[in-house]
Amino acid sequence: MAKTHSDPHVTDRLIGPFAQLVTLEGLPLKGSLSDKQLIVQQAAGIRVRGSEIIETGPFERLAKAARADKTEIAELPAGSVGIPGFVDAHTHSCFAGSRAKDYALRNSGSSYLEIAKAGGGIWDSVQQTRKASPEILEALLLKRIRRFLAAGITTLEVKSGYGLSVSEELKMLRVIRSASEKTDMDLVSTCLAAHTCPKDFQGNAQEYLQLLETELLPVLAAEGLTSRLDAFVEQSAFTPREILPYLRKGKAMGFHLTLHADQFTAGGSAVAISCGALSADHLEASGPSEIQALAKSEVIATALPGASLGLGCGFTPSRALLDAGACLAIASDYNPGSAPMGDLLTQAALLGTFEKLSNAEVLAGITFRAAAALALKDRGRLVAGHKADIAIFQTDHYNEILYHQGQLRPFQVVKNGRLYLSKNDSHDF
Ligand SMILES: [Zn+2]
Repeated sequence: MAKTHSDPHVTDRLIGPFAQLVTLEGLPLKGSLSDKQLIVQQAAGIRVRGSEIIETGPFERLAKAARADKTEIAELPAGSVGIPGFVDAHTHSCFAGSRAKDYALRNSGSSYLEIAKAGGGIWDSVQQTRKASPEILEALLLKRIRRFLAAGITTLEVKSGYGLSVSEELKMLRVIRSASEKTDMDLVSTCLAAHTCPKDFQGNAQEYLQLLETELLPVLAAEGLTSRLDAFVEQSAFTPREILPYLRKGKAMGFHLTLHADQFTAGGSAVAISCGALSADHLEASGPSEIQALAKSEVIATALPGASLGLGCGFTPSRALLDAGACLAIASDYNPGSAPMGDLLTQAALLGTFEKLSNAEVLAGITFRAAAALALKDRGRLVAGHKADIAIFQTDHYNEILYHQGQLRPFQVVKNGRLYLSKNDSHDF
């Protein structure tokens, strides 16, 4: 029987034994990491109170204490390796429709314009998402969330950005909030109303951004719908000159900023630095000067290998960013257009192969460094005081996890201190 505390909902639990527990404790936020820096506890356990880690240490010692005070023990099978639950800090998981036709056309050599003429491109996702009722959108999002949880992701950022009008952006953000009340997943929402200039505005970006400033941002603040603003800074979306007033206004209202930056042409990362954004995401087109500037700044550089794999483009210069001293997070960019895979572990493992990243760098990029990109300091390491979010793999060594390039899935996921995984949740799109 579980130990009873003054709050009847808070129970202590001991989880283990772990053949290896990779805690990621003590690693710095910025710069390169070697695998020798990883602290690996052998034959370890994690004592949890409610959703929080109280202690990690030798399982036998913790089990003895647990038996003495009748704490519940969630016993794991032999050969269990625990690492912090993953944080996917950049996704567009709230959408309707499929862009499989775009994918086929693009791979057959069609240009961006030809795909748009055939009814594809982002505007297709906007129309599908506008057409979908809040109930349908929420059901789609919740289905995807179950898949992410089963893959070991315990904190998920979700952007709006397929509404592109005040009312439709609000619809998306309210759907994300409603979904977050129905799942154990921690959802972090971001307003990406500045995804691209909507067709309704016939290329009049300033007018659209001004409308967002006056009609949308005050509602976001009043309803507490999100604390984060994102924008796509690119010649084909918003130029630095166009977007800066909007970002400054958002910052002045207290929003955290994050940007789609340097994906096809450089320029966005400088905007991110000048605005004090939390993160600059993409960076495939960042050159030596952008890399140096990011490394000197507090802006987190988020690589999105899913977009490189979806578009068949080069990867974010992750090795160079880490060597320069930047903080590198890795996220899936899951979206129906350019990154349809939505599999963070596979993508992070592949980025490691192509960019020559140590296991420590990859694991840091999808845990505590990604949490920092969301301004979350209470997760991403298995240490006292952090959330008890754990991805557990059936293997005898943590090296096996990235070695299998995403094919070794967690056999159990602990979310908020509770064993979560159900076998039906794995590959449901
Ligand atoms: Zn994105």
